[in-house]
Order: sequence, then C-alpha cells, then structure tokens
Amino acid sequence: MGYNVAIDGPAGAGKSTIAKLVAKEKGYIYVDTGAMYRALAIHFLKKGIAPENTEDIIEACRDADVSIRYENGAQQVYLNGENVTGMLRTEEVGNMASKTSAIPDVREKLLELQRALAKENDVIMDGRDIGTNILPNADVKIYLTASVETRAQRRYDELKEKGEDCDLEQIAQDIKERDERDMNRETAPLKKADDAILVDSSHMTIPQVVSEICSHCR
Ligand code: C5P
Repeated sequence: MGYNVAIDGPAGAGKSTIAKLVAKEKGYIYVDTGAMYRALAIHFLKKGIAPENTEDIIEACRDADVSIRYENGAQQVYLNGENVTGMLRTEEVGNMASKTSAIPDVREKLLELQRALAKENDVIMDGRDIGTNILPNADVKIYLTASVETRAQRRYDELKEKGEDCDLEQIAQDIKERDERDMNRETAPLKKADDAILVDSSHMTIPQVVSEICSHCR
C-alpha cells in the first residue's frame, strides 16, 4: 500500500495547485481525479450526448478507456489511446463532467483506476469523494475550501491567463451550481470526511496552504 493523502473540496478551491506543490515537496505522485471525469466528459461531448440522457451516457461508458501516464512527473490523461490532457480545462468540459459525475456508472468506471494508483504509489489524490469513498483509510485527509468569491476570482484569473474570454459573474454562478450538484448528489456527494483536516484558503497564500498541509504529512 502506498502512502495516501486525500484532498477533497469544492471547485476552484485550489486543490490541484496545492496538491502539485505538496507532491513535489514530499515526492508523491499527484493524481487529479477531476481530470478523469473530464476525459469521460470529452468522450460524451464527442458523441454529442446530452448530460441528461443518462441511458446513452451509461452506454457510452462501455467504449471509453481512460488511463493515466506520468511524463516528466506530470499527469497525462489518455482517452482511448489519445492524449486529451490539453483539452480538459474548458468550462464546457467542466460543466459536462460536473453533470455526468453524478451518474453512479460513471463513478464506478473510474473507481478501480483511482484505487489502483493509490495502492501502487505514494500519492496525493484530489477530488470530491477521495477521503469519504475512494480511500477511506487514507493516511491524511484534507478538506480544502474557500469562499465562492475567492474561488470565482481564481478561476477567472486562470482562464484570463490562458487568453479565454470569460465573465466573473458567470463563473461565480457556475461555481455555485457546481457546488450544489457536487454536494447534493446521491452517489458520493462532496462532504468533509469526519477525520479530514479543514483548511479554508480564502485568506491564505499558496505557500501558507502548502506548508500547513505538508505539516500533517510524512
Ligand atoms: O476538479 P475538477 O473541476 O477538474 O472536476 C470536474 C468535475 O468532476 C467536478 O465538477 C465534479 O463534479 C467531478 N468530480 C467528482 N469526483 C471527483 C473529482 C471530480 O465528482 N473525485
């Protein structure tokens, strides 16, 4: 069994930025499970299936193969043999992932891949249900959150930097809707595990959050 750090929290809380830095400092592998849901979302978008069409989504899961490779320490996500890493972080893909991740068959499809990575490696794994569902015996569990305003501003800055056209109000609205879906779905909803350490990063710098989390890890 690898040494496992679970980091859960709502969209835009900074999980991936923080987890990557903790991974580097501690020598763990960073596993981004949101990227796996996003890869499946690309598969559904390519097929033109609406997220509400649950039956077709479930059917489409059958011919989707998501796998992860590490190239120069960075996670690369493959969908049916194609590297889709560069296509994952658009709002369209994020919204599709958020909607379809509520479907139990979609979650089931990725569960084994996530557990196998944690079994074989020392990992810091980020997602929504890692501490509560995927790795209930993780060595360290972190619940990383921040206010909606802070998260919306961070997402806005990230998209602007990539040159994407975006609207702060719209992003805040999307974040609220995503929270609502992630926290209220029936299967594996986002919630803080009882034994998770709560870190609210609203008024913390990145190095402060990294150092706080590292202080709990081996
Ligand atoms: O974290 P990220 O925004 O990349 O995740 C995309 C979507 O995938 C989220 O909105 C969430 O609904 C879903 N997700 C999930 N469980 C995870 C990781 C992501 O439901 N472990």
